[in-house]
Amino acid sequence: MNDECIFCKIVRKDVPADEVFRDDDVLAFHDLNPQAPCHLLVIPTRHAAHLSDFVASGDDRVAVRLMDIASDLGTRFGEEKGYRIVVNEGALAGQTVFHLHFHILAGRRFSWPPG
Ligand code: AMP
Ligand code: ZN
Repeated sequence: MNDECIFCKIVRKDVPADEVFRDDDVLAFHDLNPQAPCHLLVIPTRHAAHLSDFVASGDDRVAVRLMDIASDLGTRFGEEKGYRIVVNEGALAGQTVFHLHFHILAGRRFSWPPG
C-alpha cells in the first residue's frame, strides 16, 4: 500500500470507483476519463508502481489472475467485436498513475500504430 497512490485509495475504498470486479488480488473499475465506449482499468490490489516492480515481486499467481480477469472482462465488454489492452509504462509512454494498470478498451474501432 502507498498512502498517496490514488489506485491504492480505490483499493481501500477511500476513493469511490465504479467497480466491475474485485477479489483479494485484483480490482477492475471504469476509467474516470474514458477513451472508448468501454474503458476499464485492471490493477493488482498490492501496490507496484511499474510493470518491472510487479514482475520483480515474483508473484506469478497474481500475474496469471490479472491476465485471466483482463481477458474475461475484454470478452464480456468487447462482445465478439474485440478489445484492446494497453499498459502505458513510464512517463514517455504516457503513464500518469504510478500503480500498475491494464487499460481494457472496447466498443469502437482502434487504429494502429497507436498515437
Ligand atoms: P495512465 O495514463 O496509463 O497512467 O492511465 C491512468 C488512467 O487512470 C487514466 O486513464 C485516468 O483517466 C485514470 N484515472 C485517474 N484517476 C482515476 C480515478 N480516480 N478513477 C478512475 N480512473 C482514474
Ligand atoms: Zn498504489
